[in-house]
Amino acid sequence: QTIGDSLDATVARHPGREALVDCAQGVRLTYAELGAEVDRLARGLVAAGLEKGDRIGIWAPNCAQWTLVQLATAKVGAILVNINPAYRSHELTYVLGQAGIRMLVTAESFKTSDYVAMVESARPQCPALEQVFVIGQESWDRLLEGASAVSPERLRMLQAALEPGEPINIQYTSGTTGFPKGATLSHHNILNNGYLVGELCDYTEADRICIPVPFYHCFGMVMGNLAAVTHGACMVIPAPGFDPSATLAAVAQERCTSLYGVPTMFIAEWALPDLESYDLSSVRTGIMAGSPCPASMMTRLIESGIEEMTICYGMTETSPVSTQNHTDDTFEQKVNTVGSVHPHLEVKVVDPVTGETVPRGTPGEFCTKGYSVMLGYWEEPEKTAQVLRDGWMHTGDIAVMDEDGFVQITGRIKDMVIRGGENVYPREIEEFLYTHPDVEDVQVVGVPDERYGEELCAWVRMKEGAPALTAEAVREFCTGQLAHYKIPRYVKVVDEFPMTVTGKVRKVEMRERSVAELG
Ligand code: ATP
Ligand code: MG
Repeated sequence: QTIGDSLDATVARHPGREALVDCAQGVRLTYAELGAEVDRLARGLVAAGLEKGDRIGIWAPNCAQWTLVQLATAKVGAILVNINPAYRSHELTYVLGQAGIRMLVTAESFKTSDYVAMVESARPQCPALEQVFVIGQESWDRLLEGASAVSPERLRMLQAALEPGEPINIQYTSGTTGFPKGATLSHHNILNNGYLVGELCDYTEADRICIPVPFYHCFGMVMGNLAAVTHGACMVIPAPGFDPSATLAAVAQERCTSLYGVPTMFIAEWALPDLESYDLSSVRTGIMAGSPCPASMMTRLIESGIEEMTICYGMTETSPVSTQNHTDDTFEQKVNTVGSVHPHLEVKVVDPVTGETVPRGTPGEFCTKGYSVMLGYWEEPEKTAQVLRDGWMHTGDIAVMDEDGFVQITGRIKDMVIRGGENVYPREIEEFLYTHPDVEDVQVVGVPDERYGEELCAWVRMKEGAPALTAEAVREFCTGQLAHYKIPRYVKVVDEFPMTVTGKVRKVEMRERSVAELG
């Protein structure tokens, strides 16, 4: 099956069910309406000259049209290139050129991003870019009107000629550890992953998924949109960018049964002073994923009544999910692990140096093989060969698998700090510091040190009204609880962490800034 076939099957099964709600625009579509809108847009794109294999970019914050473009391009077999809505024209120019984008769909503007102006300034350097359509403007309306030139029959023929293994999507990784890479994914990759994520959340057509995570990232477009489409569930878009109160308001108003977020989003939502005023009683399940999920936050979510909450672990290169909790895992398994390995995947945990599989309970690099592994990085064969060897995707994440198959992600190889010869995974220290009553959020990075090679520096965000933590107070809190070499030497109290648009902390930047400040 292709993504288009899957959508058609759901439209046929649940035509009258609500499919998509965009709270900010006041858009509501049933599956019958979504199917019709997608087909119209697909025909408009064909009329505009889009062909199978062409790269078409989408550069916009979350909105109903984003989803339409995702599904319409899949029907044509064009390769959708997700462009980070936080990019500026310099970065846009890079992606337009790297992926060889012929057509671009963008939005008018959002907050400080004037997309149209930035596209205009990038255009002279991007000769391959032929057409730009701006959602809500005349160019978008003309695209839809053009649909009448292409018959529904012609679209059906184009769709029938597609193969599930063909590339359909280029998703750039989050850029947490460096420059983003364009993971190239097929229908088969992402449709099945979205379907299985939905299976593990026990979705049916009665579910309504609140999606505040960006569509540009696999969390939104696969775990959100494709999990919904494959199960006939409804996609609820609370706002174009992340807004904690708009998210919880959407949950309450739309009676959402599932809530998504990266840990920082849940932390922001559960820190709202008026948290109690949102009726969240409809929420049954949800997904926290994308970066290390603090046990304290997971505990709060479950205690708030979201007993079937799950954690997922994965990466863009693997469509993305590799492990997930089952809704009926025990409290301990939900809070302390990223669940067990998804169906239909092979996994091994290896010694990163020798490549040998390590015994259960021993940390090593998490590697996975199977349907979800990307086709490769777009036009970067060397980078692809570094991570993809004999079909195994080497994730660069350090994991421990217990006897029952539950996985803990204990760090990233790139984040590992070596202090005085001891390997330290910042994750462990962060988990411990989260238990401090005044700490809202915490991140630990390594900074160079003459004596020990590296020293630890903790960046801390304090809870509202709490006094700033000093390095001494942190030392006192950790002494007797953590080994001495794991106790951060430096503490920096901040209001914000440097973030990627997916809500991931950019440790590279934190490390650089810590080094600059320490001199
Ligand atoms: P880049 O590869 O560009 O540096 P990135 O790896 O952050 O960025 P993504 O593909 O968005 O880009 O994120 C995947 C990574 O996120 C994983 O490799 C892992 O390090 C981390 N991650 C995802 N989910 C979890 C989780 N539940 N617990 C811990 N880490 C997670
Ligand atoms: Mg990565």
